[in-house]
Amino acid sequence: MRGAAGAYAGLSVGNSRLAQSRVAGAPEMALSMDLTGKVAFVAGVADSNGYGWAICKALANAGATVTVGTWPPVLGIFEKSLSGGRLDDDMILQDGSKMKIATIYPLDAVFDTPDDVPEETKNNKRYAGLEGYTISEVADKVAADYGKIDILVHSLANGPEVTKPLLETSRNGYLAASSASAYSMVSLVQKFAPIMNEGGSVLSLTYIASEKIIPGYGGGMSSAKSALESDTRTLAYEAGRKYGIRVNTVSAGPLKSRAASAISGKGGPKPFIEVAIDYCKANAPMPKDLTSDEVGATAAFLLSPMAGAITGMTVYVDNGMHAMGMVQDVAVEQVR
Ligand code: NAD
Repeated sequence: MRGAAGAYAGLSVGNSRLAQSRVAGAPEMALSMDLTGKVAFVAGVADSNGYGWAICKALANAGATVTVGTWPPVLGIFEKSLSGGRLDDDMILQDGSKMKIATIYPLDAVFDTPDDVPEETKNNKRYAGLEGYTISEVADKVAADYGKIDILVHSLANGPEVTKPLLETSRNGYLAASSASAYSMVSLVQKFAPIMNEGGSVLSLTYIASEKIIPGYGGGMSSAKSALESDTRTLAYEAGRKYGIRVNTVSAGPLKSRAASAISGKGGPKPFIEVAIDYCKANAPMPKDLTSDEVGATAAFLLSPMAGAITGMTVYVDNGMHAMGMVQDVAVEQVR
């Protein structure tokens, strides 16, 4: 078992006894995460409440240069929040410095090329004065600004009929959820993989509704998340072979982000996301709050060379909720 001993030793640099037992010629790996010199593009950041922000922070803490893609309808408010200092407290990194977002690119991930943008969108006042926000154009801009990048994150989802059960979801609503939440990932990998360095890594965010029934997560969003997870595996193979990059997805537990707060229809006793959070906290193997930073830390690990052999995976960061088949004693009625 020299190989196994060597592998452990490789993870224990600094411990001389184990370090000496390293297999000759095996690459030495430090367990500290240093992403200095790496460039990341995180799609789907517009405030400090969501998973995208937490991932930006984790990457910045590790030294990466962070750029983001922001949906045009919320770009103005995001830029105002940043320039007005409203996010300053949330930008403090572990060393006390302030996170820098190197570039903010307008990005609408339902459009692949300029030809896809309908007149109605071009003339919409929320898109006025903006151009180059389709996926291929953003990839071109990132390449022009940074050359090759190392990290691509898809942290976005949209389902116009998410408040409707699948039984009442229209074809358009279903396809829109799929376009914004699943195909957007395929397209991002198509357009960004050619500008990624070999050894680079891609990550998206998924939700347990892809594989288990989560009442209230409607509009075809559960279907879109299933597609996202399946595509993660196929893209891992195709992009691994063609570009030498990895593709994974994190199945995150519930978080009260802006997108998640929009899931509830009006008039319910308690918003969907609050029920989901309380239910998980009461019933998960780890009965505690889930923080976006915990998802950020796992994301940074998966995006780093430390996870160099992990690809095609759906990794649960949900306090273990996914593993429950039958909950002990706290039913959803009690958390409503
Ligand atoms: P969020 O509101 O922070 O992020 C969603 C982002 O998607 C927003 O910034 C929004 O502007 C952007 N967006 C919507 N349509 C877009 C488009 N067409 N083009 C570009 N950007 C667009 O919310 P979040 O909950 O952190 O969501 C991030 C990811 O995490 C999503 O994939 C979501 O499904 C996933 N997720 C969330 C939870 C949760 O409970 N919050 C749980 C599991 C997975």
